[in-house]
This record gives sequence, C-alpha cells and structure tokens, in this order.
Amino acid sequence: MKLAINGGEKLRENPFPAYNTIDKQEEKAVLKVLRSGKLSTYLGTWHEDFYGGSEVQALEYEWANFFNVKHAISVNSATSGLYAAIGAIGIKAGDEVIVSPYTMSASATAILLYGGIPVFADVEDKYFCIDPQSVEKLITPKTKAIMAVDIFGQTADFKALKKIAQKHNLKIIEDSAQAPAAKLGDKFTGTLGDIGVFSLNYHKHIHSGEGGIIVTNDDDLAFKMQLIRNHGETVLAAKGYEDKKELHNMLGFNFRMTEIEAAIARVQLSKLDELIEQRIDNVKYLEEKLQNIPCLEIPPLRDEAKHVYYIHPLLFKEKSIACHRNKFIDAVKAELPPTLMRDDSPVLLSYGYVKPLYLQPLYQEKICFGEYPFSLSERVYKEGDCPVCEKLHNDILITHELMRPGMSKEDLDDVIKAFEKVWKNKEELL
Ligand SMILES: *Cc1c(COP(=O)(O)O)cnc(C)c1O
Repeated sequence: MKLAINGGEKLRENPFPAYNTIDKQEEKAVLKVLRSGKLSTYLGTWHEDFYGGSEVQALEYEWANFFNVKHAISVNSATSGLYAAIGAIGIKAGDEVIVSPYTMSASATAILLYGGIPVFADVEDKYFCIDPQSVEKLITPKTKAIMAVDIFGQTADFKALKKIAQKHNLKIIEDSAQAPAAKLGDKFTGTLGDIGVFSLNYHKHIHSGEGGIIVTNDDDLAFKMQLIRNHGETVLAAKGYEDKKELHNMLGFNFRMTEIEAAIARVQLSKLDELIEQRIDNVKYLEEKLQNIPCLEIPPLRDEAKHVYYIHPLLFKEKSIACHRNKFIDAVKAELPPTLMRDDSPVLLSYGYVKPLYLQPLYQEKICFGEYPFSLSERVYKEGDCPVCEKLHNDILITHELMRPGMSKEDLDDVIKAFEKVWKNKEELL
C-alpha cells in the first residue's frame, strides 16, 4: 500500500500557505478612515451624500478608470449588484431571463427577486460558460435578458451572445464576480454586456471583506442602480421625477458600501494586476507537468481570451483509466494538506463545481416568496435539462484553488507530485 487513501504515507503534511493579500497599506487606509470618524456618509434622501462618501466615490472613479467604463457603482456585495442590475433593466413578474446553471446561486436568485423566471441554458463542454446555441433554443416571447457568467475567470462567448441579444432585443447582464481584469480581445469582462457585476468578497481575487461593484456605459441604467442601491423611492419626488413613470416602482434597498470597505478596496485594486499575473504563472507551471498525466486534459482557452483563474479547471479523461473521477481525486486529496486560513475546509481540490442550480431544492420545490414567482410559469426544472453541465458535474470536471498567489514553486511541485503518485499507483484504486 503506497497511497495515503489506502493507509500509506501522505505526500505532504505541512499545510499550504495562506492566501492573504492584506498588509500595511490596507491597515493605513483603514486607520485614516477610522480617525476621520466618517465611517459612512450616505444619506437615503435627496442630498449630495446620496452618492456616498469620499472613499466610496474615489473607489468608483478609480474602478471606472481601470476598467475603461463610464460608470462604476459600489455596493455591499455582488449579490446586491446582481439584484440592482435585474431591477434596472426592468424585469417584471413573469419575464424570463436565460442563465447558466453552473454558477453561484445569486446569478439566478437576482431574477427571482423581481418576479422573473430563471430559464437555464446548457454550458460549453470546454469553457463551462453559457452555451449560445442552447440560449437561442430557449428564447420565447417572454425572454427579456441573458445573464452570462464569466465562470472560473474566463469570459463567456460574448461575440455570439451579443448577436443573439441584438436579434431578439434582449439585455445582457454579465456576472464577472470571478473574472476581474479578464479580457476578450482588448476589452475587460464586465464591460462586454449592458451591465457587469464584480465581487469583493473575502474569497475573490481582491476583496474588502464584503463588497461589489457594478459597471455600465449607460447613464440611464447607472442612475437606476444608484436609486436601487439607496432607498430610491424616497428621493424621486424630491428630485422632481413625478412624471417619470418608468421610475415610479424604483423600490430602493440599502446596498451601500462603507468608507472602510471602500478604502480597503482601493488598495486592493492597485494590487489586482500583480495578483492575476501570479495566478497565470502558477497555472502555467502546473499545466506544463499535469498535461503529462494521461487521465488529465487541460481545457483550451477561448480565442482572444485572457483567463484570470479564480478557479483552475481540469478535465478527467474517463476512457484513460478504469476508475471514476471521484475516486481518483479523493486519492489525490488524501496525499495533500489543507491550506492555512482555510484549514477548516479540506484540501482545496474537488470534483465538479456547484450542483447545477435547477437541481437544487429552490427550483425542485419551486418555493420562493411562497409560490411566487414560479406560479406565473409552467416551466419545470428536471434532471436532463442541461446534459453537458450534468456530465461535467457528475464525471468530468475537476476544480482547484491550489494556484493562488502565495504558493511557491515547491508547493506547486507537491500538487504535481500528488497527481503523479496517484497515477503511478492507480492499480490500488481499481
Ligand atoms: C462570488 C460570486 C457571486 C456573489 O458575490 P458576493 O459578493 O459574495 O455577493 C456572484 N456570482 C458569482 C459567479 C460568484 O462567484
């Protein structure tokens, strides 16, 4: 017995280094805000502070500059950002929005919040984003928008999606929570649709603990999202918008970011380029060796795309080995240690990603706000709806985060050695 999963010695016990990008610069920025006493200056009525304080506005200015987009609007999470985006494009009860099932839950719950019906399109087998051909088949007279997710850090197929959107007069929202500074050609993801949404939560490339940024080049959509962020219904009368019918139902929330979070996010944004280059270098180093393991396939990159690797995806070649992906990956995981500051979780390597959303209880039980809004639609969500996604999830896709900045060449070598060791001793698994 050589493999750790069978009682052999583990390849490595010593934990992998933490991913922690917070240093003296963030400390200084936070102290400055604390000492000013102005932790948030937002007012939820019509006033110049309706748009937030100096750190919030500076962050928005810098974000818009960096991403070369007209408006950047900070919010307290990407989830809130997605909610504001769906509200701004005017999704109403019973409208359909086509979305990927292989994404974080909020890409789809945003649709439900406004009474919209999520319609799940299948994903591409090599890029894992929403498949434009599948989207086109699902369009009905009720379809109003596409929610495209740049999953794992690579852009969705915006060339094809835009053609479809133009032909059918649909809006596109881009969930770019996992892909800040990823590109398609010379354009940043997040800026490819009508509205883009980024996340600044603790686990993303850069973070402020919690936070999110919405971007758009459209003045009207930007104003609506500012209203939704900050109790919009209370300011409309004061601003003299009584006649603007389309704004009358601008129900506002409190999606506001604090000055401390904005100050942290400004420093983090200045580190983004460097952090992404490290991820790309680490992935290159891993792929050079992992491609020699016969049961692994490196997924191709999309033409003209720059991948920023929130997650590093790999594919399992079923025909190359007589054991299931899960068994193989469990054996690799058994060889490896946890990662510091994430030591409550197991090894940051898994099979599949999230269970396809339509198979989760919310969609299976169709209970949201009571039975609303599912009661407005005949749609059923069932196994087999998105076969490519289900196959990836059940048998093919491997995902890991063992390429984050902080991993040394020696750490990466141990990841490679674990895969090599399991491949060499695979008879133990058969
Ligand atoms: C993280 C994530 C979100 C939500 O981000 P929060 O800031 O935590 O609300 C949304 N979509 C995707 C694809 C994500 O990865």
